[in-house]
Amino acid sequence: MKYIDAVDYKLEIGSLEDSSFSQLLESYVNRKKVIIVDDNTHEHCLPYLITTFDELSEAEVILLPEGEENKQMSIAFSIWEALTDYAISRNDLIINLGGGVITDMGGFIAACYKRGCDFINIPTSLLGMVDASIGGKTGINLGHFKNQIGVFSNPKTVYIDSIFLTTLPDEEMKSGYAEMLKHGLISNHDLFFAIIEQLENFRELDLEFLSLSLSIKNEVVKNDPFEKGLRKILNFGHTIGHVIEGHYMETLNLSHGHAVAVGMVMEAFLSVKVGKLSKKEYEKIQSNILKHFSVPRFSDDDIKSMTGMLINDKKNDTGVIKCCLLSAIGKCSFDNIIPEGRFTETFMHFKNLQINLN
Ligand code: NAD
Repeated sequence: MKYIDAVDYKLEIGSLEDSSFSQLLESYVNRKKVIIVDDNTHEHCLPYLITTFDELSEAEVILLPEGEENKQMSIAFSIWEALTDYAISRNDLIINLGGGVITDMGGFIAACYKRGCDFINIPTSLLGMVDASIGGKTGINLGHFKNQIGVFSNPKTVYIDSIFLTTLPDEEMKSGYAEMLKHGLISNHDLFFAIIEQLENFRELDLEFLSLSLSIKNEVVKNDPFEKGLRKILNFGHTIGHVIEGHYMETLNLSHGHAVAVGMVMEAFLSVKVGKLSKKEYEKIQSNILKHFSVPRFSDDDIKSMTGMLINDKKNDTGVIKCCLLSAIGKCSFDNIIPEGRFTETFMHFKNLQINLN
């Protein structure tokens, strides 16, 4: 069992059965417990949880439709109504059992319900384990705008048990690897190449890399929990990644990690264009990432719509678009002001896929 201190809670990595989970449940012995799941974690993860931990035999289960398009206000409303119907008090416990959609939305629900109800995260996707379930960002989308509504709120504990990965579909495994690649690109050159190698055999995840990856995120968050400065580097790949994910939400339905992987290549391209990153470093990033994640086909209308969405990114100040850029594999800067035209140029480049950096 590995214990890592987060901002004001703990991350526990290892078998749930060896963790403090039972003790935690005992501390809520006379309290109600609510488990929030989606279709897939209801089928694949909930049976293990409720058959292993007797304390959960009477837990209420709230089942949500799976998918990013459901991370939205009407679903949040229905959950608050269900919590009210179950007469859940702010001293009861919400257990988010799922990928990033469930931990983002469940954390948001808990943070707002009666001004704050205790919650824990049990991430079941790789992306949830290395990224979404830790760091205190919770929220929902507003139409195509990702995570537009949300609050910072920390869980009591995050339990990371790789047992859940056995049922995770391949595409979703790869999605998690994308955020691990990001952790390498922003701060650990060797991790980036190690993860690229792991992707060749992506079902056989080395748990040391999982642990290293989430520790990178955790350290950054501990230094800057409310994203006043350094934490912004975790958004590398997300300025473009989020608009791609939002724009194609109902059509291509790209995984979050896939959109971020493409966003990272495009933001690395931008880094070359503004003179921060060498072409040699860029080519390593591009060839290694695009081997595993394809770029969607952009039409001119897609590009217009996506560049139009950029101005609403949460990292911006009024009227300017800010973006993270790389100066090397493992070195990232934030708050770079980039003119909209640079993004259009980047999208056009990837539309044509003419790799001409001059
Ligand atoms: P997800 O929650 O939609 O999970 C992906 C898919 O895998 C879903 O279909 C889900 O039902 C299924 N699934 C999850 N666990 C499973 C399991 N063990 N077995 C079988 N199927 C399983 O998405 P995700 O990729 O986990 O997370 C993406 C979300 O996380 C996005 O909304 C993104 O914005 C958010 N995110 C948040 C943060 C943060 O700091 N809060 C960071 C990164 C990403």
